[in-house]
Amino acid sequence: LKMQFMRIGWSGLKETKKEGKVTDKQQKNGIIYLVGSGPGHPGLITKLGYDLLNTSDAVVYDDLIPIELVVALPESIKRYYVGKRAGHHSKPQNETNDLLCDLAGKGLTVVRLKGGDPMVFGRVAEEAAYLKEKGIPHQIIPGITSASAAAADAGFSLTDRRNASWVMLATGREAKSASAPVPWEDVGKLDGGTIVVYMGVKDMERIVKSLLEGGMSPDKPIAVIQNASTGIHQTVRAPLSKIVARCQDANVVAPALIFIG
Ligand code: SAH
Repeated sequence: LKMQFMRIGWSGLKETKKEGKVTDKQQKNGIIYLVGSGPGHPGLITKLGYDLLNTSDAVVYDDLIPIELVVALPESIKRYYVGKRAGHHSKPQNETNDLLCDLAGKGLTVVRLKGGDPMVFGRVAEEAAYLKEKGIPHQIIPGITSASAAAADAGFSLTDRRNASWVMLATGREAKSASAPVPWEDVGKLDGGTIVVYMGVKDMERIVKSLLEGGMSPDKPIAVIQNASTGIHQTVRAPLSKIVARCQDANVVAPALIFIG
């Protein structure tokens, strides 16, 4: 593990307990690894993330992670579920932050396991900022984002040279604070790329309406992919003007991604 970290230029890994010497300093200073679990299939986590998970003292995990990874851990590793499915906030963010702080304060090596890539709509910046403020050592380990996995399931490229020279990753949720909401009407004027909408199923009707108002062609090809890389994925394809009805017929619910173009 140490070697792997040296390769990515990280030198903050504490001495492993295997070596039998946990100093007082290490005892007080735990470390948090913010690890991307990949999009669903337990094999789609990185080797580094997997190794960290299996040598950690505690795991703090969300929804939309491959639960097999947690179930298979040795019993000595403590598990904390802090998921928050849309509408059901099982743990507010500040409680998760407090938990991470507590565990690190006990000198534990903690894996904060997050779905897909933690850097894509994973709130990792907020958690990392909090850890930084508290002076808790932490490191982010990237993962495969669900858009990559869904595209692989459906067999299309996000950047097919013949018709997509850019990719946009957008959230379907209206931003409540900080950043501005996605200007869907302006996005409707764009052409020649792929737009991927995360967390967009509930608000698909509103988004589609704005895209059409912005001038996007009603014939624009859309694919909605639910449960990518889980073995039970479902893909619905239709032109922009028909996609809402088709998804309602097929009973598409979260987690799903909307691919436009
Ligand atoms: N960090 C995650 C995204 C978290 S936001 C990533 O990189 O994938 C949560 C949203 O991601 C869901 O609402 C859904 O739009 C999408 N998502 C996550 N896992 C998915 C899956 N297996 N299949 C389809 N969409 C998924």
